[in-house]
Amino acid sequence: MITDPNTHGLSTLCIHAGTHLDEATGGACSPIFTSTAYAFPNPANANIYPRYFNTPNQQVINRKLAALEKGEAAVVFGSGMAAISTFLLAHLKPGEHAIFQNDLYGGSMRLISSELPRLGVELSWGANVAEFATALRPETRLIYVESPSNPLLHCVDLAELAALGKRHGILTVIDNTFATPINQNPIPLGIDAVIHSATKYLNGHSDVNAGVVVASTEIVNRVTASAVSFGGMLDAHACAQLERGLKTLALRVQRHNENAATLARFLAAHPAVSKVNYPGLPEHPDHAIAARQMRGFGGMVSFELCQAGQVERLLSRLRMVMPALSLGGVESLICVPSRSTHRTMTAAERQRAGISDGLLRVSVGIEDAQDLLADFTDALAMD
Ligand SMILES: *Cc1c(COP(=O)(O)O)cnc(C)c1O
Repeated sequence: MITDPNTHGLSTLCIHAGTHLDEATGGACSPIFTSTAYAFPNPANANIYPRYFNTPNQQVINRKLAALEKGEAAVVFGSGMAAISTFLLAHLKPGEHAIFQNDLYGGSMRLISSELPRLGVELSWGANVAEFATALRPETRLIYVESPSNPLLHCVDLAELAALGKRHGILTVIDNTFATPINQNPIPLGIDAVIHSATKYLNGHSDVNAGVVVASTEIVNRVTASAVSFGGMLDAHACAQLERGLKTLALRVQRHNENAATLARFLAAHPAVSKVNYPGLPEHPDHAIAARQMRGFGGMVSFELCQAGQVERLLSRLRMVMPALSLGGVESLICVPSRSTHRTMTAAERQRAGISDGLLRVSVGIEDAQDLLADFTDALAMD
């Protein structure tokens, strides 16, 4: 079995790492093990049970993601939020303090600001490593970021963040969903734990909800111990579907990167567009950070129309790009953050965060670039 990230490239790991060899038939794919009852004690002397996060199909994903993210271990969950909530609850206790990036995924924001204070955890927020350093307290337990972030694609210097964490003995955690392990590996930069919503690029086909935590064996064991009680596991069929999606991750992400760069340049030059946010563009404020720590700039682009009143018209005129909230699938999707992912913020909060009413976010798919550009050309045209 190929699982060594030091001897094999990411495309090879996507396909081969973690596969459960089919010794019964010699089949090329991991068999699907559907049992929820296993002989006990079994020959491996472990009590296998889906909610113990240790079935063969769960282990396939765990091994593949550990290899792709260059971590010691991984654990797969039934959703990105199950991974995030279990990670935070496994580490934080009353009286402790945690620092979070300002612009996180909406579901993470809700979890953090509505659940953690109830449990007696103190929160601080910041935009970059300098602000995180200012927020540090003796009782700070962890710093949690997203890079690139949603929807403005802010990037945090991960090597600097890791150094800050190590200096103060504080856990550093990143939601790496937007970047994917193909574009960015935070663990070799010193970050302690990587979380993904596998619902997005990792599965990539908009048909599985899943999440994953990758870290040292010690951290993953701690998270898994809590996970067994919280119960957010992924079943065997979904694991097998996610495994199939992962086999083409490197190839898909390469096309997502290319198409997003093409669309970002097209939009930046369009007279109806006032601003484009894409970390691959030299004018993006965090381009230098992104260029240092990413191998590709990802498939997410956001942009502002000169006239916010034209948003509805644009959405109604797109024929291929679908107005929808999720991201990371093979098909291109577009959404209006002020009305969807960030609607629970007040207008003033949105303005402070730089999320205008005319801002649109595109999850650029892997269609032919010329068809994407044609769809936007027609939809943006003044008739
Ligand atoms: C979608 C998403 C999540 C939540 O994942 P689910 O699988 O929907 O629970 C977390 N973080 C980011 C960045 C996401 O895009």
